[in-house]
Amino acid sequence: MDSIPIDGFTVEPTEEKKTLRLEITRLFDDSPVSLPTGLISNGEDTKVCIISGQHGNEWNGIYSSQKFFKNVPHEAVKGTLIVIPIVNPLAFNEKSRVSSVDSIDLNRTYLNHSYRKPAEQIGTKLFAELFGEMDYIIDIHGGGPGEYSPHVAVTDENLIEKASDLLLPDVYLGSSSSGSLASACAKENIPLFTVEAGKRRHIDRAYTDKIIKGLENFLKGVDMLDGKPQEGKPVVHSNKDKVTSPASGFFTPQVDLGDRIEKGDKIGELEKLFGEEKIIRTSVSGKILYLRSEKVVSKGENLIHVTW
Ligand SMILES: [Zn+2]
Repeated sequence: MDSIPIDGFTVEPTEEKKTLRLEITRLFDDSPVSLPTGLISNGEDTKVCIISGQHGNEWNGIYSSQKFFKNVPHEAVKGTLIVIPIVNPLAFNEKSRVSSVDSIDLNRTYLNHSYRKPAEQIGTKLFAELFGEMDYIIDIHGGGPGEYSPHVAVTDENLIEKASDLLLPDVYLGSSSSGSLASACAKENIPLFTVEAGKRRHIDRAYTDKIIKGLENFLKGVDMLDGKPQEGKPVVHSNKDKVTSPASGFFTPQVDLGDRIEKGDKIGELEKLFGEEKIIRTSVSGKILYLRSEKVVSKGENLIHVTW
């Protein structure tokens, strides 16, 4: 596999599906960090970059993006398709959200003007050398201590129509955390679609099949693959409430992911260490888009996300 420094990487038309390693930075001992990358280009205009593995333990995204690249026939692609399944290899190698090398969340490093630690260097270079050149970016994530119902998040209502092409049942429209790729792309007017599905350290084929089908349909929608895109009919949510744990303890949910709940409904019980049980209720009505599956919680951690 060729290895190319990211600042020397230029897209040339490919004669066959190409995999390479993009050299992105060096660790403290000067050992190189490079990103496995798939490239298909016929030299035409539209450029789409699909990434995953910003968080190294979110395997639904990592599995889906590399599988999609393997499935798509080289000759079918018009334009340029770049797939980087593992954008934070340091975290992936530890099967962890962030790497212990720097303990920095790659998805909080974009446009934050700090360039000391490896994750910050990865974020800064990817954004400066690659993401800024793209017409569309799809960033696939895969949950945390809880599970996400498959959905697409966008920061601009003008992106809802294209987000629908990803064929997931829900679209969430809302702002994103400072330093995230979504907030950086919003500032620079780069259309970004954040896909979330499943829970960390899992590969759930029901979810990955859906994601792969959505990626194919998305490329049809931007004329990079032949065929009319299937019309997605997602429910669009523009509000979100996170129900957090009022104390540390053990959480037992009494709702299911995807349930519709009403204001005041009981969502579960929290049992404090050596203490009493508390009933947890929602103060809003909506759909449960995220449900915590890890039973041990500390005060302030998310139990569910409700969207409407
Ligand atoms: Zn993530």
